[in-house]
Amino acid sequence: MGSVGVFSESAPLPPPDENLDFAAVSAKYKEEREKRLRVEGLNQYHSDRWSKPISRPPIEETVDYLIVGAGFSGMILAVRLIQAGITNIKIVDKSGDFGGTWYWNRYPGAACDIEAYIYMPLLEETNYIPTEKYARGAELFAHSQRIGRTFGLYEKTLFQTEVTQLDWNENTKKWDVFTERGDKLHAQFITTAGGLLHKMKFPGVPGIETFKGHSFHTSRWDFDYTGGDINGNLHKLADKRVAVIGTGATAIQVVPQVGRWAKHLHVFQRTPSSVDVRLDGPTDPGWAKTLTKGWQQHRMDNFNNLVAGAYVTEDLVADGWTNVLAEIAVNAKMVEEIEAAPDPIAVANIIQKKMQAANFKKMDQIRKRVDAIVRNPKTAEALKPWYNYMCKRPGFHNDYLPTFNQPNVTLVDTEGRGIDRITEKGIVFNGIEHELDCIIYATGFEYVSNDYSQRLQLSIRGRNGIGLEDYWKDGPRTLHGFYTRNLPNHFIMSITQSALAPNFQHLLNEQAKHIAFVVAEAKKQGATTVEASQAAEDEWVKTIIRLGKLKEDFLRECTPSYYNDEGQISEKTLKTGRYGLGAPHFFNLLANWRAKGTMAGLELDGKPLRLRELKRCFL
Ligand code: NDP
Repeated sequence: MGSVGVFSESAPLPPPDENLDFAAVSAKYKEEREKRLRVEGLNQYHSDRWSKPISRPPIEETVDYLIVGAGFSGMILAVRLIQAGITNIKIVDKSGDFGGTWYWNRYPGAACDIEAYIYMPLLEETNYIPTEKYARGAELFAHSQRIGRTFGLYEKTLFQTEVTQLDWNENTKKWDVFTERGDKLHAQFITTAGGLLHKMKFPGVPGIETFKGHSFHTSRWDFDYTGGDINGNLHKLADKRVAVIGTGATAIQVVPQVGRWAKHLHVFQRTPSSVDVRLDGPTDPGWAKTLTKGWQQHRMDNFNNLVAGAYVTEDLVADGWTNVLAEIAVNAKMVEEIEAAPDPIAVANIIQKKMQAANFKKMDQIRKRVDAIVRNPKTAEALKPWYNYMCKRPGFHNDYLPTFNQPNVTLVDTEGRGIDRITEKGIVFNGIEHELDCIIYATGFEYVSNDYSQRLQLSIRGRNGIGLEDYWKDGPRTLHGFYTRNLPNHFIMSITQSALAPNFQHLLNEQAKHIAFVVAEAKKQGATTVEASQAAEDEWVKTIIRLGKLKEDFLRECTPSYYNDEGQISEKTLKTGRYGLGAPHFFNLLANWRAKGTMAGLELDGKPLRLRELKRCFL
């Protein structure tokens, strides 16, 4: 090699070697290429720590029903479709197994604080009784695999396959589905069951990319770095200074685990959560023996009715959810009472005051619990939530608050502002740089208020190439939350314009039964397409807005969170909201609609809606 000499950044390139040996250079290129070549080719880029990457050629296939998402929504829908006789199904998911949320979220301490006997789907059908009142992550993931095996779903599923595009084909009257592996799938019916916790969120603070230590999101936990597994034992953190950013439902479960093992843990808090007792305990085998056919649905209904404020004589679940929500939820009985009163405003005010008093009392108890547990008065003060119950998702944990009594744990309360920035060395708040080896982002996921297809990271184009994003640019438009105009045969499973039950699985089950009914009925009638009529969709959107106003004031006064679009409530917020009379009323509405059997509000094969049927969509 000749001398390099002095070479300034702006100088022209030095001349090439006159006697360059082209063959030798080619050989060197080849040698270097061989070093770099990976047999996995394009599949080497893998964001999934939990499964080995698979390699397969692209496929082309036509099915009756395609489901995007192999989490509990997709699985329950597949089961209900199979039970309704629709068996030619394909499920597609980017993960390596069933479970969705419970596939990805394997952080230490992961568990569900909704009772397992009502949360874990299809318990009777799979002949399984959970081992504890509140199931842990590993059991929930194993149960999804059990459902997959019991109903033969593995054979119907393409894992590690990300759907990128859904296009309605007016000629074939089918959906053309494209994946990042080059597959072309065609399906008469389709459901996007992307779940709520799909796309990770990180704080938009400066310097996040400059941090030189280790970092990861809770839903992609790095056990190689921390040691241990979903049950804890994070022994590799013994010499590490760790930060957890966020104090939501996930952080509440993660903080005790990290606090137990890290040399030092800093918890960066923006808004404290309400943290109630969790009544952990093993399943009593004697009780399990007493269960009779239909017990799970009965228990689910009992919980759902109680937390929606309906009058129920027994409380089967009897936990932190049922003992408070019954007193503070808006329910259909109250609305009837208000509407029937000669002076509705006076009655509404009385009801409102009663609910608010119950809410104040509950939150007072939650704050008193902090004082009773946390010894440092300044830390205790900072951990107290000052907002109404249900402004944010309530938390339940027995070890979270005691963790702040440990000498190796520091709460950095950002007093609602959030962290200022991230540097090469750590996190800065209020001019103080906290030096760290590791940052764990417990900062959550994009929620329903974010654009639907952007959140699911796929493009959805209906009739005449109309994109869902464009059609929904002023807010979602659906009938009953399932169908949207211009997207024939596309059934959405989401909470938007549908219901939100604290027991999310209950909602999924009701939605799955409903979709299976509609598809089976359409097939029975020989119809190729099902689509909401414009008039029915318009009416449903109006209904959602009208009933959404019942909760508008409550939400407006809440501390900002994803529940209230970060405190910026608009008509779009109301359109993105839920059916305002609560989940039990919504489920009844769907059940009554099915019982009538007229498919009111839907156009089969484009046949216009009979006007007299329109009102039947809105009981
Ligand atoms: P969340 O969105 O609930 O919480 C994110 C946390 O990050 C919040 O505390 C938020 O503060 C904080 N945060 C965001 N940006 C910043 C910032 N710049 N500086 C400081 N803090 C910040 O996410 P989770 O993962 O906790 O929960 C997601 C969902 O998962 C929840 O809806 C919950 O229902 C569900 N879940 C359910 C469980 C169950 O047992 N059933 C268990 C775990 C999760 P702020 O509050 O101020 O916005």
